[in-house]
Amino acid sequence: MLAPDRRVPHYARVIAVLVLLGLVALRLLILGGVAFLLIPAGRRCPACGGETIALERAGWVRMLPGVARRWCMHCGWSWLRKQKAGEPLAPVPRPSMERHVGI
Ligand SMILES: [Zn+2]
Repeated sequence: MLAPDRRVPHYARVIAVLVLLGLVALRLLILGGVAFLLIPAGRRCPACGGETIALERAGWVRMLPGVARRWCMHCGWSWLRKQKAGEPLAPVPRPSMERHVGI
């Protein structure tokens, strides 16, 4: 079993860990930014060209500004699309009365 190297000060190890964690965080930020830029804009379905409708902004999609999950009524395609300026926002999830009333 190897003994820890006593010549390296404790603060140097802490700084090394912080630098490595910072590099991991920077990598995640860059990948997230690139993934966000790759989300296409528009309302047309990329598979069939039909009109899509915006679905509820739920889950992690709510954290992405200007992004909504869309669904194609013609072919069933569903994925994220950026909203162009002037387009209505996706509906905001509301608490359902059916759940409380039991309908
Ligand atoms: Zn389609």
